[in-house]
Amino acid sequence: MKRERVRWIFITFLFCATLVIWVFVFDREAKKGVLTVAFFDVGQGDAIFIETPNGTQVLIDSGPNNKVLREIGKQMPFYDRSIDLIITSHPDMDHIGGLPSVLSRFSVENIMIPGVGADTSIYREMLSRAEEKNIEILYARRGRIYLDQENEIYLDVLFPDRATTGFEKNLASVVVKLVYGETTFLFTGDSPASIENYLISVDEDILDVDVLKLGHHGSKTSTSEQFLGYTTPTYAIISAGKDNSYGHPHSSVLALLKQFEIKYLETAKEGTIIFESIGAEPFVRRL
Ligand SMILES: [Zn+2]
Repeated sequence: MKRERVRWIFITFLFCATLVIWVFVFDREAKKGVLTVAFFDVGQGDAIFIETPNGTQVLIDSGPNNKVLREIGKQMPFYDRSIDLIITSHPDMDHIGGLPSVLSRFSVENIMIPGVGADTSIYREMLSRAEEKNIEILYARRGRIYLDQENEIYLDVLFPDRATTGFEKNLASVVVKLVYGETTFLFTGDSPASIENYLISVDEDILDVDVLKLGHHGSKTSTSEQFLGYTTPTYAIISAGKDNSYGHPHSSVLALLKQFEIKYLETAKEGTIIFESIGAEPFVRRL
């Protein structure tokens, strides 16, 4: 009788193990050559998840609280407990509030920060969790980071291109462009129009993108007419909370988008917004 029980336990274990392996294989096969970019619905804030075909995972910002965990859970399989890189655009609550929970739940290789600090408990918590877990902190500087060599997928850090000590936090926002073949995304944190103008002066030729995450949740301090003229995105993303007290997005920004005939999508209305690309046209919005 005892031996029979052991046998059944063994068979059940074998069955589960095989199932896990098949789930893993199926998952990898389904993602072959596909880049996924998800703009999470985290309320008033930003959180963007990137996964390349070779499985490299990047999180840009983490929203204001632990809501981000639920969203990550929808994109990553249950057995995956690691994230390769977290970029914090700047240390405001609506961008780093979820980070302590993410760092508790996942093992993270690197955290990239703009270099400007914040005298807040959440910022200190982020740094102490990172230290506890021996996570390497990288200071964002203009340059290229390859996420997936085989598929030539990379992030170009456009800003900061200098030390940002003493900068106003939004001004220091890390601005990155994601490139996969013909598909391009631009993530701007809370960069104001003055930084957009600066980028036009140094990067005029590479600003044209398919998807633009509008700076500062669609506030009128970002997304100048000139910047839209250079970026000409097919989609503009507005990451903001429903009925937020800041009045994001601003009606003047929406009017500009309409004037340029740019489709815009709001996380407050659409929920999480997901794009997929195989590096060539058409890149698609996953519904
Ligand atoms: Zn913000």
